Amino acid sequence: MLDVIVKGGLTVTPDETAEMDIGVLGGKIAAVTVPGVLTAEAGRVIDARGKIVLPGGIEPHAHIGIPIPEKWAGRPEAITSPPQKSSRAAAFGGVTTIIDFAGNFNFAPVTGPDQKPIMKSIEERRNVFKDHCYTDFAFHQILRGDELEAAPQLIDQIGEAIQDGLASFKIFTVHAPFRVPYGPLWAVFKEVAKNGGIMAVHAEEDEIVTYMIDKLKREGQDHGYNLHLVHNNLSEDISFRKILRLAQHTETGVYFVHATAKEGVAAIAEARSAGQPVYGEALHNYLEFTCEDYKKPDGTLIHTYPAIKYADDRDSLINGLLDGRLCTTATDEWTTHKDVKLAGQTVETVCGGHNGIETRLPVIFTKLVVERHMSLERFAAITSTNAAKILGLFPRKGVIAPGSDADFVLIDPSVTKKLTLNDLHADSDYSIWEGFECRGYPVMTILRGKVIVEDGKLMGNSSDGQWLPRKVSPGVLTQPVV
Ligand SMILES: [Zn+2]
Repeated sequence: MLDVIVKGGLTVTPDETAEMDIGVLGGKIAAVTVPGVLTAEAGRVIDARGKIVLPGGIEPHAHIGIPIPEKWAGRPEAITSPPQKSSRAAAFGGVTTIIDFAGNFNFAPVTGPDQKPIMKSIEERRNVFKDHCYTDFAFHQILRGDELEAAPQLIDQIGEAIQDGLASFKIFTVHAPFRVPYGPLWAVFKEVAKNGGIMAVHAEEDEIVTYMIDKLKREGQDHGYNLHLVHNNLSEDISFRKILRLAQHTETGVYFVHATAKEGVAAIAEARSAGQPVYGEALHNYLEFTCEDYKKPDGTLIHTYPAIKYADDRDSLINGLLDGRLCTTATDEWTTHKDVKLAGQTVETVCGGHNGIETRLPVIFTKLVVERHMSLERFAAITSTNAAKILGLFPRKGVIAPGSDADFVLIDPSVTKKLTLNDLHADSDYSIWEGFECRGYPVMTILRGKVIVEDGKLMGNSSDGQWLPRKVSPGVLTQPVV
């Protein structure tokens, strides 16, 4: 007997999108068939007629339950929304897997040599999420410039960490003490490449950013609405290209978190057409807003670092997702309350992050599938499949196929709703998506065969989420495969 049959939905698989039945057994997909073939009894039959059945959303970039810098929050000890709350919001938004971060999140620089071993960081983060997460989860390991300087031996642990199921390492080329200078970065890239991992890179040109902060301060122009002049197009152009050259020399696969400018999209596209294994992500707030919106009342609510840029940059990100130059969408999930988000008002103090983990799928469905006629296959790719492939979760996650985890989101394309705060489940008192008109909305989320959200009701449990070991397929690291 099957545990579940999802019956008659418009099902998006690698081969075709058609009305199909899906049989689930033991949390895995047992069969995907034309309708009516699965006649065996099932614990539950879900009538999915009229719905679109997609692989559960994968959020590749979230910052859950971590300290917020005092200079942003205006007070000490503020933290972003914890896993219990952010993963609940994610589940309501059709997300079944979250990739967050492990490592040292404190903004104070480290000085001593006693840095935590990498796998110890991972274990600590697993314990923060275990029994407090409605979705499955994994972590990119953050490697910081100050830590690599104090404890270069961290680089020697990369191989073992990859063996133990950690696939991706996150670095920043900006913002001391996180910024990793190019020397140690070269060593990190070599070691990650040698051991079959992938680099997740927040690239900005530190010297440009620092110069612009000083310049705007000098000129009395350092209000937060000028963030795009600091974290600017030139910075993205130069920094992306430096990273690409470093990756080329070291034969390292690169996942650029948040491309934000047409220059970044172009740099990624050129490298990909030259055969480099390079992948780019876009955040959904960057697909809607422009830097003009920063000037509206409370305009910096929309801000996530680097900075939202101009209309042609926004269009370049949208077109990149449509035509394949960009591969994934994410949110940079970072949920705070409005007072924290608005505490800092200058280009140095505006709080980053976006409480967006719930809205990504419906917003992108509306903007790209409904408005721009993106195919459902491509929508599945940029919300789930590509992240699974690039970050080492495929084929367990990201695909509706026999043997894969039975993670699904059912979208009802007939639902239209103008979002209000009441529709959303984040632990927050504002949403930048208030008033956004969704056409199509997630109505059911299924994690490993268990319905965790149904018709606006939470059915899952915070002990449902499991940590996911990851391994990037060698092909992903040889050439751009998605
Ligand atoms: Zn981030």
